[in-house]
Amino acid sequence: MLEKELIRQITLDLTGIKSVVGTLGEIRAAEKVYHFLNALDYYTQHPDYLTLSDLKEDTLGRKNVVALLKGEKGHSQDTVILIGHIDTVGVADYGNIKKYATDPIKLQELLGNKKLNDDTLKDLASGDWMFGRGIFDMKAGVAAQMALLKKLSESVDQLEGNVVFVAVPDEEGNSRGMLSAVDELLRLGEENDLTYIAAVDTDYMSPRFPGDDKKYIYIGTVGKILPCFYVYGKETHVGQVFEGLDANLLASKILREVNLSFDLCDVVENEVTLPPISLRLQDLKSKYSVQTVNEAYLYFNYSTHSSQPDEVLTKMKTKAEKAFKNALHRLNDEYRSYCRAADIPFQEVPWSVQVLTFEELYSAVRAEVGVSIDESLDKLKQELLKKKPDDRIYSLRIVRELRRHWSNKNPVIIVFFAPPYYPHNYVRGKDENERKLLAAVNEAVAHVSTEHPYKFVVKKFYPYISDLSYCSISRDSKVINALVSNMPGWNEIYSLPIESIQKLNVPVVNIGPYGKDAHKFTERVNMPYSFEVMPKILEKTVRLLLDR
Ligand SMILES: [Zn+2]
Repeated sequence: MLEKELIRQITLDLTGIKSVVGTLGEIRAAEKVYHFLNALDYYTQHPDYLTLSDLKEDTLGRKNVVALLKGEKGHSQDTVILIGHIDTVGVADYGNIKKYATDPIKLQELLGNKKLNDDTLKDLASGDWMFGRGIFDMKAGVAAQMALLKKLSESVDQLEGNVVFVAVPDEEGNSRGMLSAVDELLRLGEENDLTYIAAVDTDYMSPRFPGDDKKYIYIGTVGKILPCFYVYGKETHVGQVFEGLDANLLASKILREVNLSFDLCDVVENEVTLPPISLRLQDLKSKYSVQTVNEAYLYFNYSTHSSQPDEVLTKMKTKAEKAFKNALHRLNDEYRSYCRAADIPFQEVPWSVQVLTFEELYSAVRAEVGVSIDESLDKLKQELLKKKPDDRIYSLRIVRELRRHWSNKNPVIIVFFAPPYYPHNYVRGKDENERKLLAAVNEAVAHVSTEHPYKFVVKKFYPYISDLSYCSISRDSKVINALVSNMPGWNEIYSLPIESIQKLNVPVVNIGPYGKDAHKFTERVNMPYSFEVMPKILEKTVRLLLDR
């Protein structure tokens, strides 16, 4: 079978297994991958190198597939990691044809009867595209990796160095598959004396704007963090509006300072992150009354190329201070005008700017009340853990409780982090592995572009949040401390295997299949590129990485 035929067939087989994140389908998809590899001669000879292993503390019993392939030429310990996720998002977006979301052949027929935009209709008619849930994100990518592993295993005597392939679930959820894989990779590395030099993912790649015909390869990945603000104002009656400090006013000023602010974008090597965008803004009043709002909560999705948690925390604190100042200005200005019109004496409002990080608040309260604060917080945590609230709400409740124990009852903004956290991976060429990856990818792309005249562009940051984030994390204790000490639910509702990720510490690249509309019912993969061109770049990159 031609390689592109094989990749097409595996893609169809994998897509046919509905593996929506958080369901048992993820286990079936892992089994499918496992059985394919298990049937290869190489794994018949080396059964120990192929495992279907349980995720840590996973109530669904989901599994990773881990396959080691040891080159038999020379004695190189260099090892390339191939990562692919086998889960997909749900299928509700397919509406009345959702039964066929994972049946590309039938789906192709049914989509013909749907109202689709011109671009989709054109692709549907061309015969170059295949539709289906997960086909593009990222079963076609996993298929290319499986085909490569098969190919390499057939001439293992020609291969110097090693490859470890991991197929993981839960990428579209909480990355539990990848986070378990990090420890498995370390264990496997120790047992077999492997030196990991790079990780290669084949997650999806899309046009960046309508009409974009470039094909992107990304060396590195974007990160994401969730800065949160708990706002505590001063309540008043609607009859004395200038006697209080409306928490909604403070929150709106924070929103204005942070939301979409270009000055918070990371610009690295001419690549810019999207600015922060609010994901929540709420006051904490439970019902109608004529008392004004004295508590509010907001948080933002914050993308990073270079900013570390300690820097983000400082930037958020500065923004909150400015927001606080702006709120007091507005209050004083409006009060002055009001006093003039009402002919009463004006006096500036009594509050001043007060912004603390969670860590600072904790220190302040701890200094006042001692260990009893830990007992109070523990009690609350026990209650909360029973109710399993949303991670963001859990975090908020801890902050709220902590402030309640503080003797300072003046208005304050507390800045902290809530889960999840995805570190960015910036490959600048600072060490041997990074330089090698940059060179290998560039050479592989140049090589393939002589045969296939696509407009290839090598960029630095894979723009979609992915498991690649967990291939490295800052080794600076100041950075890690800023994250951990300001995330109230750390080690309770959320944690990362920080030391393991620090040890793994490899640069990453995403060489993706090409397609459109990931997470939409028109999700589709472009076959000529994804089954033939992208696999060549993948293979060439892996071979160049292992070439000494
Ligand atoms: Zn994906």
